[in-house]
Amino acid sequence: MSLHEAMLYEEHAENKVKCCLCARRCLISDGATGFCLVRKNQGGVLYSLNYGKAVSAGVDPISKKPLSHFNPGALVMSVAAAGCNFRCQFCDNWMISQEKEIAGNPFPPEEVVKSAKENQCQGISYTYTEPTIFMEYTYDTAKLAREAGLFNTFVTNGYMTPEAVKTIAPYLDAATVDFKAAGDPDFYKSVSAVPSVEPIYEALKELKLNGVHIEITNLVVPKMGDSMDKIRAMAKWIKDYLGPDTPFHLLRFHPDYKMTTVPATDVKVMEQALLTAKNQGLNYVYLGNIPGHASENTYCPNCDTAIIKRYAFEIIEWKLTKDMKCPVCGYQIPIKGKVWQSNLRYPYALF
Ligand code: SF4
Repeated sequence: MSLHEAMLYEEHAENKVKCCLCARRCLISDGATGFCLVRKNQGGVLYSLNYGKAVSAGVDPISKKPLSHFNPGALVMSVAAAGCNFRCQFCDNWMISQEKEIAGNPFPPEEVVKSAKENQCQGISYTYTEPTIFMEYTYDTAKLAREAGLFNTFVTNGYMTPEAVKTIAPYLDAATVDFKAAGDPDFYKSVSAVPSVEPIYEALKELKLNGVHIEITNLVVPKMGDSMDKIRAMAKWIKDYLGPDTPFHLLRFHPDYKMTTVPATDVKVMEQALLTAKNQGLNYVYLGNIPGHASENTYCPNCDTAIIKRYAFEIIEWKLTKDMKCPVCGYQIPIKGKVWQSNLRYPYALF
């Protein structure tokens, strides 16, 4: 097992340490690990156990994260290390996020960057598990990636401390922050073992303050997490604190892990959620996990022209002008970066 001294921890009496990476702020006794199981106190020093060990790596379209308004069409090298600070009973990556053993293939930061370049990626995405809890690995990789001209993105549950956000923000270009059940605190407690959702909102404000491009997802779970009132409140919060141009992706639940008896969300419920969010004044609301649905497209908020047409992870028609304006009415569409085209077939896994 490789050890790498952790970032962001405090020393306490009796060789205890407090980890300040995620909002759990675990106080860890000598010899014990934190809630995520991948950070261990040895003799009053906190170590990361998953540094440089990838449990999954592969090339993905950026749309899979999802990021729809950031370097559209780009390819990213996706990297994950073992562990998570949540215990979601529906996790579709539970084989790697909930592992008790710190497995993984040696994939040091220099190799991640080299591999991204060799595979014609424009960026690196820290994803599949929770990047907050492999911060040391993401931090070193992200710094090298920047030097090599690559961008960095997180796919995160957002349960980061403000210190963690400030640490990674100088190297982080974009973040997809995933909510479940529109942030219902009872759902988070009972289904994901998360005591409070407030830290996620604080982390989002900090990401915004630090200029990171943000897209929000929300998993709509039948019955227990499909309240339109809560979706309305979440859309309003996004509009008020992150701005009306923040892309909001409503994701259809599908049965997985310990929740295989809960059916996939009814498409009509998804459409109701879409309308509810749009009526709060958000300009770019998308439905995810329903390939072929018209709500995968981007529409001009001014004249309603379908300006980017998509099918699942692919862009099938791009109508914006070079300076990202609607070709019909000239309305400026907020897209960060540039449009990329690739002949590669994706996604494909390295391991
Ligand atoms: S990352 Fe979070 S869960 Fe893991 S040890 Fe630190 S505070 Fe605890």
